[in-house]
Amino acid sequence: MSISRDNFKLSVIVPCFNEEAVIRLTHERLMRVMEDNGYRYEVVYIDDGSKDTTLSILDELAAQNPNINVVSFSRNFGHQPAVSAGINECTGDLAIIIDADLQDPPELFPDILKTYFETRSNVVFCVRQNRQGVGFFKKLGYHYFYRLVNSLSDVNLPLDSGDFRLIDRHVIDAYKEFKEKNKYVRGIIAWMGFQQVPFYYDRPGRAEGETKYGIGKLLKLASTGMFYFSKKPLKLSLGLGIIGLLVGLGLAIKVFYEKFNGVLDVVPGWASTVLTIILFGAVQLITIGVLGEYLGNIFDEVRDRPEYIIKRRKKED
Ligand code: UDP
Ligand code: MG
Repeated sequence: MSISRDNFKLSVIVPCFNEEAVIRLTHERLMRVMEDNGYRYEVVYIDDGSKDTTLSILDELAAQNPNINVVSFSRNFGHQPAVSAGINECTGDLAIIIDADLQDPPELFPDILKTYFETRSNVVFCVRQNRQGVGFFKKLGYHYFYRLVNSLSDVNLPLDSGDFRLIDRHVIDAYKEFKEKNKYVRGIIAWMGFQQVPFYYDRPGRAEGETKYGIGKLLKLASTGMFYFSKKPLKLSLGLGIIGLLVGLGLAIKVFYEKFNGVLDVVPGWASTVLTIILFGAVQLITIGVLGEYLGNIFDEVRDRPEYIIKRRKKED
């Protein structure tokens, strides 16, 4: 593969779920950037089982432009499977993954590409310096989530960076080798290595429409990020067990000491008994829960179901 600043094909990957309010605007802004810079390009829109008119709008846009591909899922599989499909389907030398709601502004592409060529890297990951239009608690949650996952995880995930990034053909091809069904895309790309450089930007709010990432979807993302990239939670039970053992041994020594010195007072002790039962009961449930998370993930993986189902591609009709 030999590409240069003025000879490459760019794929833009855009996962869309119920984005009828914004998708035309996004397309317009994307096209302006492509034309102003004279890029050779394709846009891969992935319709993630939208229930509104998103798919028909995408079909209409694709009918007018041969550089547009529309990959349509049989149902809503989620943002990560949609991004995955985009990476698997794209044909460019370079690919940039963006959200459909203009929070990852296409106008930054020239600077991102400049960073890519100047640093001779394989990945340019975009790091959010500022987030507009995100509530205080969500911001706080994101902040601590990235730091928690990083401290637990075996891979060094870039902080405050979503899936907005440029990847080159080496990374696109390597990605296809990852067989897990639940994919945490940014984690997998970070895990790969190669040469990865940051690109800092201020993240605007969503241009139109409402967030499509409900709390359930966010938690699933967090859980995949945490449990697929770390075995540390499994070691939690061992650590807690050892602490419990030490506390138990300490208490046993105290009881025997008091018994042999005739000062053992057995009647009060309700509080310590009940608290110990509750405390260790909770610890046991938490550790069973952690085991359950891993077991559930193993179950998902051994069933070996497809990551997503494509109803149709533009090319096929
Ligand atoms: N998305 C998707 N499938 C889903 C949920 C979201 O493809 O099940 C897409 C959505 O259309 C958007 C991107 O994922 O392009 C990010 O979603 P959103 O902007 O709603 O998330 P937020 O920015 O609020 O975290
Ligand atoms: Mg958004």
